[in-house]
Amino acid sequence: MKKREFVKCTALLAGAVVTGGCAEGSMKRPSQKTRRGAKLKLRYVPYELQLRHVFTLASGSRTTTPVVLTELEYDGVKGYGEASMPPYLGESHETVLRFLSQVKMEQFSDPFLIEDIVSYIDDAAPGNYAAKASVDIALHDLAGKLLGQPWFRIWGLDPAKTPYTSFTIGIDTPEVVRQKVGEAEPYKVLKVKLGLGNDKEMIETIRTVSDKPICVDVNQGWKDRSYALDMAHWLNENNVIFLEQPMPKTMTDDIAWLTQNSPLPVIADEAIQTFADILSIRGIYSGINIKLMKCGGMNAAYKMAQLARTMGMKVMIGCMTETSCAISAAAQLSPLVHWADLDGNLLISNDVYKGVTVVDGKITLNESPGIGIKESVKMF
Ligand code: MG
Repeated sequence: MKKREFVKCTALLAGAVVTGGCAEGSMKRPSQKTRRGAKLKLRYVPYELQLRHVFTLASGSRTTTPVVLTELEYDGVKGYGEASMPPYLGESHETVLRFLSQVKMEQFSDPFLIEDIVSYIDDAAPGNYAAKASVDIALHDLAGKLLGQPWFRIWGLDPAKTPYTSFTIGIDTPEVVRQKVGEAEPYKVLKVKLGLGNDKEMIETIRTVSDKPICVDVNQGWKDRSYALDMAHWLNENNVIFLEQPMPKTMTDDIAWLTQNSPLPVIADEAIQTFADILSIRGIYSGINIKLMKCGGMNAAYKMAQLARTMGMKVMIGCMTETSCAISAAAQLSPLVHWADLDGNLLISNDVYKGVTVVDGKITLNESPGIGIKESVKMF
């Protein structure tokens, strides 16, 4: 695509009139005539992700994650989205299906009015962020396909700047932890869950078989700030990069004190959900973990990453257990972040999409338009 055409395509996203001629390759591009009568059509189907291992965090264990897969069609072109509902977010198949049944996407005849459509979805009901993300992701996939461009290009991001993704190791026995470290061989960074009382044993076990950098996620598991600071120093001596949500999000003063004194950056995960939350945690944490399922999708996640960077905070992009759909959507903005933890699709055994890949541990974007995925199992 030539520069002038690209500028025109990008302008469409700000709501300009579609004049045609900016699609490339085999992607179908609706004509002005067919567009005039076309409407958005939303479909959705519940699905259950099977985890490869029992996944244990400080908050509990599970072997499955409920998701809802969405399809948004416009004039024969289809975009895909996903809601993933880990227990701690409070959403379920039932709540997501109820939300989506109330959304009237057919009222929209211009899929490029992303700000208007996302505002409508956001105002439809409070909360329900995973449900909202499932529509937002499908809308971005659709708009990108109609433009014939992947989102990292529409956002003007350099695909060479994607980070390494970490590979998550849950809390487990030394034997299983060593086995998981072996499975993580292709990845350059490990993300280790702590917070159930065997913190040093987990790290020491890993260090008997690997010297890779480690990101630590405590999932609010520590309750004492002196212990948290002692651990931060010890972890710093063991090639740990950062400390994610070390204490409950309600322990604001203790976390601010830890951040001031810790040799490691302290990252907010459970403490931050939406765009508006960033202002409230300034000075309390060193950075934020953005997840599409927490904030409502790609539109909000992109704005959060930009705001946090502007405020001098570290930015991480994370995920739930998700198919390659939501993972590939998040990966589109990964050139903007300092760290990525986009391994949710690698932890499941029944993915239904093919999307972005990990090559030598690095997130590798492709040039397919939208969010860069293809169905590997027909779901609609
Ligand atoms: Mg976390």
